[in-house]
Amino acid sequence: MSHEQNADLFTRAKSSIPGGVNSPVRAYGSVGGTPRFLVSAQGARVTDAEGTEYVDLVCSWGPAILGHAQPDVVRAVQEAAARGLSFGASTPAETELAELIRERVSVGGVSPIEKVRLVSTGTEATMTAIRLARGFTGRELLVKFAGHYHGHSDGLLAAAGSGLATLALPGSAGVTAATAGQTLVVPYNDLDALRAVFAEHGENIAGVIVEAASANMGVVPPKPGFNAALAEIAHAHGALVILDEVLTGFRVGPAGFWGLQAAAGEHYVPDLFTFGKVIGGGMPLAALGGRAEVMDHLAPLGPVYQAGTLSGNPVAVAAGLETLRRATPEVYAHLHRTADTLAATVSAALADAGVVHTVQRAGNLFSFVFAAEVPENYADVQAQDVYRYGPFFHAMLDAGINLPPSVFEAWFVSAAHDEAAVAEIIAALPAAARAAAE
Ligand code: PLP
Repeated sequence: MSHEQNADLFTRAKSSIPGGVNSPVRAYGSVGGTPRFLVSAQGARVTDAEGTEYVDLVCSWGPAILGHAQPDVVRAVQEAAARGLSFGASTPAETELAELIRERVSVGGVSPIEKVRLVSTGTEATMTAIRLARGFTGRELLVKFAGHYHGHSDGLLAAAGSGLATLALPGSAGVTAATAGQTLVVPYNDLDALRAVFAEHGENIAGVIVEAASANMGVVPPKPGFNAALAEIAHAHGALVILDEVLTGFRVGPAGFWGLQAAAGEHYVPDLFTFGKVIGGGMPLAALGGRAEVMDHLAPLGPVYQAGTLSGNPVAVAAGLETLRRATPEVYAHLHRTADTLAATVSAALADAGVVHTVQRAGNLFSFVFAAEVPENYADVQAQDVYRYGPFFHAMLDAGINLPPSVFEAWFVSAAHDEAAVAEIIAALPAAARAAAE
C-alpha cells in the first residue's frame, strides 16, 4: 500500500525536526515503514493526513481513556480556554484536582496522599519526586528497575524501557558518569537483588522508584507481593518508595494499580506517587503526591525547589478534572471487558497461526511477548522474537488498526472502543498473525 502523503510529510519533517519526530517511538524505528501523520481523532479512531481512518489502540499512550475528543472534555477545555489560557497564578480548579486525586487514591477513606503538586509532564513528576526523596532523606542514591521508564530526566535513563528499549541504547549520551553513577539498576521482580543492593548501599539510598506495574517493556506485572516487599525493604533502610503511576494511574482502575493491589489484599504505603497521562485527559498535566511530611519539603515551604510557568495550567486542569470525573467504575469495567476480549482473540489468532507467544496483563493493560516463557523482567522480554512484531504491526495497520509501533509497549483501550471497533480489530487478526508467523 502506498502512503505517499505520509511519506512526503515524513521527509519534510525530517528536514526540520530531528528524525522527523518529537518523541522517538513515533518514528517507527523498530517496525520500519512510514509513520502516519495524524490530523484528527474521534472516539476510538484516528485519521491520518491522507484521510485514512484507523481504530486506535495507542490512545495517545494512555491519556485518551474516554476516547478521543470526548465531547464533555472538549467542552470543558473550550470553556476554560475562553476564560484565559494561562494565568501564572493559583486557580480554584487546581485545588479541586488535587483533592480529587487524593480522594480517588484511597482505601477505606484513608489516602496515602495528603498533598499534591501539579506539573506538566510525567518526566517532571518523577524528576521532582526524586529530588524530593533526596532532599527529604539527605541521601544521594536512587534505585530503579531495568526496563522501567520514568521519563527522560538524566538519572532515570539507565536501562530504561519505552523508546530506549527499541533503540537498544544502554542509557543516553549526554548523561554524566557522575549522574548515572547515582542510579543503581536492579532486575525487576527480583527481591534478592534488591536486598543485596540495600545491604551494600542502604545508608546512602534516598529512594526506590518503580512503575506500579511495568508497561514500558511491554506489560510485565509485579509478582504477587513484590511491591509490598519492596516497600518493606526500602522502609527498613529509611529509603522512600516512589510509586510511578504515570501510566497506570487512573487507567487500570479508579485508584490506579496501587488501588487494584490494595483491593486484592496487597497493601503497602508508598511515600510518593507520580501521575500523568489520564490526569491531564490529553493535555500536558502530571502530578506528584504523598504524605504531607514529605511533600512539605517542596518550595515554598521547604528547601527542595520545583516550579513551572505552566504548572497547574487552567486549560489542562479543566481537561483533567472532566476526564477523571467521567472515568467512572462503569468505564473501568468496560475497559477491562474490552481488554479481556482483545487479549483472548489476539492470543487465539497467534496460536492458530502457530506463533509462540504469551499474553501479559496488568489490569486493563495488555501486550504480547513472542516467547514461550512468561517474562518476569527486562532480560526476558528482550530475549523474545522481536522481529515478529513488525510484520504483525504492519498487517494490522494496513487493515486499519493503529497499534503501538513497538513490541515493548502496552496496548490501550478506551471507553469509546465499542463492539464495532472491537469487531474491526478482530477481523484484522488472522492475516496479521500469519504475517507474524513468517
Ligand atoms: N513514567 C512512566 C511510567 C511513563 O510511562 C512515562 C511516559 O510514558 C513517564 C513516566 C514520563 O511521562 P511523560 O512522557 O509525560 O514525560
